[in-house]
Amino acid sequence: MKLPKETTRYCPTCKKHTVQVVSTQKQRSRSTAHPLSRWGTSRVESRSYRSGFGNLGRFSKPAVKSWKRKTKVTKRITVMYKCKTCGKMKGMSSAIRSSRIEIGEKVSK
Ligand SMILES: [Zn+2]
Repeated sequence: MKLPKETTRYCPTCKKHTVQVVSTQKQRSRSTAHPLSRWGTSRVESRSYRSGFGNLGRFSKPAVKSWKRKTKVTKRITVMYKCKTCGKMKGMSSAIRSSRIEIGEKVSK
């Protein structure tokens, strides 16, 4: 996917169209983005699931996506727009899935 380096978009802070710099933000890993998600180590420890004898086969397996599903080759890329006038940053309303993104000449995967 190709995007320009700078675009003119509406800025809700300035309340008018301004020149905005385009940048991307990658999806963080699940453990950083959601540290208390199901079967995360810190959640397990905080809720003390580990009490008792044995782990009943729950904690020995790796995450499902590492051994089961291999279909997704694209990543969710969030496109961010930074206003040049006020310096505020605003994201795209919905993230796009793309394997490769080009902003100006800079290529990021
Ligand atoms: Zn602005």
